[in-house]
Amino acid sequence: MAVDAEGAGATAGAAIRISGLGRSFGAGDARIAAVRDLSLEIASGAVVALCGPSGSGKSTLLHLLAGIERPDCGQLVVDGVDLARAGRRALLDHRRRVGLVFQRFHLLPALSVLDNVLVPVVPLRVPFDKVARARQLLDAVGLAGRESATPAQLSGGQQQRVAIARALIGDPTLIVADEPTGSLDSATGVEILGLLRRVGRERSATMVVATHDRDVAESCDYVISMRDGRLTSDGAALPA
Ligand code: ADP
Ligand code: MG
Repeated sequence: MAVDAEGAGATAGAAIRISGLGRSFGAGDARIAAVRDLSLEIASGAVVALCGPSGSGKSTLLHLLAGIERPDCGQLVVDGVDLARAGRRALLDHRRRVGLVFQRFHLLPALSVLDNVLVPVVPLRVPFDKVARARQLLDAVGLAGRESATPAQLSGGQQQRVAIARALIGDPTLIVADEPTGSLDSATGVEILGLLRRVGRERSATMVVATHDRDVAESCDYVISMRDGRLTSDGAALPA
């Protein structure tokens, strides 16, 4: 897959190189290795499905990729920066380039659709052009005209559309989606993933999507699976 660097407003998606990655929780006998000795390469712009049973370490791997969790050991290199060794500043810079989509949408119920999309940029003092950008993104996800609605007035699929627009407001080079279709019926799920892929693709973003849904996994470029914190597939480089 060639990443089209000439696409409108395209930025290069994050290139990811993981080796010997480990992350455990708890202590002593209760210690759980959520991710263990995991190695993987993901080319810039690839759309990767991450499958595996509950408890296999998918969310932990996504959190490590997003810079929300820190590795205990190994390397996690995103665009040349090793997040396992990065200082606070570099980690914050990384997080700013990541768009997150969750299973349960996590919209703020008291805020309008438009203000929900702006949540990630609020601490940065919302520049006027971001409001225009939020409106553009809502248009791109099919919610033009619903800017003033509150989340409770929307269907689940529409709420996830808002969450996708919110994930894109910071122009991410990496989109991390944790079972984004898990709260939706299957048809809506496939539609939402199609939308996520399209908007991600337009920005050449690299995308990693944890999913239990076979149709969703099959609509990604690559499928990798985890079990007990390890990849069950060989973890070979995913070609561009
Ligand atoms: P998945 O997303 O595939 O269901 P997770 O990454 O959520 O898997 O969890 C992998 C393992 O790590 C599970 O056994 C889970 O209980 C454990 N785990 C994940 N996060 C934490 C945490 N913050 N504290 C303690 N244990 C955790
Ligand atoms: Mg999970």
